[in-house]
Amino acid sequence: MIVVEERIHLGMDDIDSPRGGCTTHFASLLVEYLSTIGAKWIDYPNLVRLNPNIPYRTRGNGAVALRFDIDSSESEGILKWVSEKIVGYIEKSYPNTNPGVIIVKGEISNDVTNFARRALWRALPIELARRILRKHELMHFCVGNGRGLIGALSSIGNQLRNDHTYEFLAYRGLDAIGETRGVNPQSVIEMDKMFSGRLFSNLDPVSGRILVEPRGPDPVLFGLRGEAAGDVIRAADHVQSSQDIDRWMVFRTNQGTNEHLENRLQISRLRPYIAVTVEGRVESQPTMLEGGHVVFKLGDDSGTIECAAYEPSGDFRKTILLLRQGDSIVILAGVRPSSKNHGLTLNVEGLQVREVTEQVEYANPVCPRCDRRMKSAGKQKGFKCANCGHRDAVAEKIATPVSRSLKIGYYLPPLSAQRHLTRPLARIKRRNRGRPDHMVEEWHIP
Ligand SMILES: [Zn+2]
Repeated sequence: MIVVEERIHLGMDDIDSPRGGCTTHFASLLVEYLSTIGAKWIDYPNLVRLNPNIPYRTRGNGAVALRFDIDSSESEGILKWVSEKIVGYIEKSYPNTNPGVIIVKGEISNDVTNFARRALWRALPIELARRILRKHELMHFCVGNGRGLIGALSSIGNQLRNDHTYEFLAYRGLDAIGETRGVNPQSVIEMDKMFSGRLFSNLDPVSGRILVEPRGPDPVLFGLRGEAAGDVIRAADHVQSSQDIDRWMVFRTNQGTNEHLENRLQISRLRPYIAVTVEGRVESQPTMLEGGHVVFKLGDDSGTIECAAYEPSGDFRKTILLLRQGDSIVILAGVRPSSKNHGLTLNVEGLQVREVTEQVEYANPVCPRCDRRMKSAGKQKGFKCANCGHRDAVAEKIATPVSRSLKIGYYLPPLSAQRHLTRPLARIKRRNRGRPDHMVEEWHIP
């Protein structure tokens, strides 16, 4: 018998359940099934994060694509397996879950690639995804309003050909998701030291907080981020937790790459929910509002816009407060729609200080006779010395430059407040390009 193999790209998104399922966990079940029916993997599962600013997103807004070669007689059965499993997995009573699964056979069309590129920074309508599905006759399955199809299509179209990173995800059993994970912080601190420079965003160096353990009732026990698959797998051996690892899998991802911020727009072209960078000048000195939010105005040739950094961004707000009128900056942001209380607003996620303007302070002149600071002699009457009585009718206030403590550079909120997609300071100069030439032998268990 001749076996005809075909290449399959399978994308999925929004597979969540109230008791805490998640898309990556479902992907690990699917990988196990596909391995038993002879899938030959051509890449690690891709975990693709999409525009973090869209309002109806799932937690973290991450979709997963699986890429493999398989006997062409199997592909119909795969979609059937997925559709049956998903219904049980998400528990139909949960209205906010709208899973979508798509299969692309062979080449990925430009329509799908372009869709994926736009989904990184814009809010795309479900109808656009459906139009591509119809035009290219793509096999798919969805529940609810089908919103998961947007992420499913995006994950297929984003082949992570640019910078990428890896995440090791350890899962606990679904019957144990109500219990404490009990990840040992000391074990994470030691692991982080051992793999210095090869891992990132697992530990906040400022607060000492560990960031590998999620909160909430999902099956993820812990996640480790790093620069190579082998690194995150070896590092995981050193993490101790009170709960057992039920299964694990390594994902290749666009986390930590700033892939959502590749578009720079003028202020007049900003639209709600996009992820964007904006270059401009500070037009008003930042102030802190009640509740801890810091706001200021940014301007460019096309207009001005309010910018806001919120309380969870912690000490990042202190940096923002050092900005002064005229400073030249680039803002990394999500655009918040206008409301009754405010206009279109840039939610500041990062700041690049390009140029710091000289600021001056004005002081009264010093008395030439006795060196004391003189006082105003009244409007348009110059100054007088309260000590010796010296008067000077034409003296003016003296301008002295104020030293600026804000330095030119790149500033981010603490790691715990960063988006999955945010390029952390640890990765500022690092780029991993292209699909890996070979995969490590064991990248998922079981
Ligand atoms: Zn004097």
